[in-house]
Amino acid sequence: MGSEAVESILETLSYSVSGFLLQGALAALEIAVIAIAAGVVLGLGLALMRLSTFKPASAFAWFYIWFMRGTPVLLQLVFLYDALPPMGLKLDSFTTAVLGFTLNEAAFCAEIIRGGIISVDRRQTVAAAALGMARFLTLRRIILPQAMRAILPALANQSISVIKGTAVASVIFVNELTFRSQQIVGQNFKFFTVFAAAGLIYLVMTSAVAALQRYLEQRFNPEIERKRVATPVPDEEPEAMDWRTLIDAKAPTAGQDSAFVVCRDVHKSYGPREILRGIDLSVGRGEVVVIMGPSGSGKSTLLRLINHLEHVDGGEIVVDGKHVGYESHTDGRLEPVRNLAKARADARIGMVFQSFNLFEHLSALENVVEAPVQVYGQTEAEARSRGVRLLSAVGLGRHIDHLPHRLSGGQQQRVAIARALAVSPKLMLFDEPTSALDPELVGEVLTAIRHMAEAGMTMIVVTHEVRFAREVADRIVFMDEGQIVEQGTPEEVLDRPRQERTQRFLRLIERPATR
Ligand code: ADP
Ligand code: MG
Repeated sequence: MGSEAVESILETLSYSVSGFLLQGALAALEIAVIAIAAGVVLGLGLALMRLSTFKPASAFAWFYIWFMRGTPVLLQLVFLYDALPPMGLKLDSFTTAVLGFTLNEAAFCAEIIRGGIISVDRRQTVAAAALGMARFLTLRRIILPQAMRAILPALANQSISVIKGTAVASVIFVNELTFRSQQIVGQNFKFFTVFAAAGLIYLVMTSAVAALQRYLEQRFNPEIERKRVATPVPDEEPEAMDWRTLIDAKAPTAGQDSAFVVCRDVHKSYGPREILRGIDLSVGRGEVVVIMGPSGSGKSTLLRLINHLEHVDGGEIVVDGKHVGYESHTDGRLEPVRNLAKARADARIGMVFQSFNLFEHLSALENVVEAPVQVYGQTEAEARSRGVRLLSAVGLGRHIDHLPHRLSGGQQQRVAIARALAVSPKLMLFDEPTSALDPELVGEVLTAIRHMAEAGMTMIVVTHEVRFAREVADRIVFMDEGQIVEQGTPEEVLDRPRQERTQRFLRLIERPATR
């Protein structure tokens, strides 16, 4: 290497540690850090507004993002610099740059955060709602931690481009890095060495962002083995296990009106389609009702209405003497309550879904402990000890620390059952709990449900497992096209169905299409 080259490299290095350029770098960094930090906060607000069902809020957020993203930040800075002073707001050029970049970043961050939020499966929200979790609690504990995986790389890109983009602030005379490099070059014409030094400084700053990105990505990566591993516990002996102590179900008291769930003339439509067309159903305390019926007949919709995950269009649903999600006025009218999450939590209705819907970023035990601690205010220790007992009761004592994706479908569904039981439900709803499982895993889930039935839990189970229904159900309800076609004891409905539609359906499920 020629001595000239060595000399320029040394010169570049000496420029890159010169106080003059480093002060410029500091200005650039300050603008970028404040703009990103404030931009993330404002962006979260804008993202939530855009996702809101409140039209004016989402329209405002849409307009803001459209405008700020669609015009150059250079013009925005010049505009602020020239427009604010006549309006009586005198800011120095550095503050103006911070303000301008913040307002601009908010728009980009909003879209990055919104992208992260909508990348999380909607069923996670439904599962949280079924546990009585309120909207912001769900956002903070369930959605954002999972959204982080999508948000972080995009946000790192954005931060890096802001650090470099602060060079634009020179138009309003902010004395930042690029501006200062140009000043030196203007005097000594050493383009190469001075700009190389500036480039080197930018590279150091953006590398710091990349390092931070790496650290945060690992922190929010649930797949990285956890440090605090809870001690696995032996599963309780099924014989010794007293489910009655786990599920504090109350046996029907004599003389008491024992109807626990009452649906009267329930109607529900999605758009022009009427999905439920006048459902009358009552379920006694401690009773196990199995609902069967073809796909699309409204079984899941009925369960969602009972747990008030959706509004009832007509008729009424009473659970344990209360209209979940509604309050009656003095004139007898029913009005939806304001705090729906609290109404759901108070109703203590457990729900288990076909697709398990475990919180993917939480271990089995953390899934079970979440609602008792966050919704019902139990202490962590209380909730964990009960959680461990529940998990070992469903045969998962050795898996309490595993993330859902490490468990088989049958194991995941048993965690989901333990999670639902953790809040001491008075009523359990199962929506095809075994339909997503391989045949050899169905039994382990049905066994857990059978134990609960024997312990006196009131349950509504949507399932097509005929043998299970025969053993466990007190009553079978057959639904078709949004109506109850017939109901009765398992013998009545399964062996002597009166309706042609029931007969046809039973022939189909008992003799699966094998030919
Ligand atoms: P089942 O559980 O008996 O298979 P569902 O209650 O899931 O039936 O659905 C009944 C009908 O309602 C289906 O035709 C389905 O397409 C429709 N449906 C369910 N949920 C919605 C929704 N959120 N929006 C529009 N249509 C829906
Ligand atoms: Mg369904």
